[in-house]
Amino acid sequence: MKAIVFDFDGTLTYKSTNVWRALWKEIGESVGEDSKYRELYRRFMRKEISHQEWCDLTCEVFKAGGVDKAMVNKIARWTWLMPGAEDTFRLCKKRGLSLNIVSGSVCDVIYKVLGDNVKYFDSITANKMIFDADGKLESIKGTKYDFEGKARFIERLCMLKGISTKDVVFVGNSLNDEWVSTTGCKTLCINPSNSIGAIPNAWSKKLWDVQNLKEILPHISFMASKPSNKEFR
Ligand SMILES: [Mg+2]
Repeated sequence: MKAIVFDFDGTLTYKSTNVWRALWKEIGESVGEDSKYRELYRRFMRKEISHQEWCDLTCEVFKAGGVDKAMVNKIARWTWLMPGAEDTFRLCKKRGLSLNIVSGSVCDVIYKVLGDNVKYFDSITANKMIFDADGKLESIKGTKYDFEGKARFIERLCMLKGISTKDVVFVGNSLNDEWVSTTGCKTLCINPSNSIGAIPNAWSKKLWDVQNLKEILPHISFMASKPSNKEFR
């Protein structure tokens, strides 16, 4: 293995809320079955709207509801890294792996939650919220690399690094991650959520109850790199 690519929400975070869902709730909007929140998701999944249109329509609701930087920061404080995350990052880095995050969450939240752990990552890709001088939400710049885009991310990473997709392990938890499997990389699903299987056999391996991120280490093949596995135990 030469690179590891993590999803963020539900993969690196533990028993935490999804930032989008939390923001809808924070401004008093429903997230129930008949809500606009769900409707926009369904319209995107049916390809009636693009990912950027989904972000723009969400942004309109958020602006009307008064979403600002302070609110986003507050939600970031309700989001925790999975226990053992720092050890896992350090050990992977020590092995010479390139660490990356490709997420459908929000950059500001990811950076806040990672804190000093940002130093372990070669790249962090997610949606960007743009705020005005008063901290009010102005726009949302959608990531190109969610859903099918996560596969494009893996391909681009491999091209830039001159490595094969077989040298990449992707760690995720949900439906929006499944497309990465089409690239031929190794895929590890932890604490599966909403992974009903849009793509058959998307996951090389599923781990159902991970409570410490270090539990993924024995499942990642380090055959391409140097020392023994001892330091991972
Ligand atoms: Mg996720």
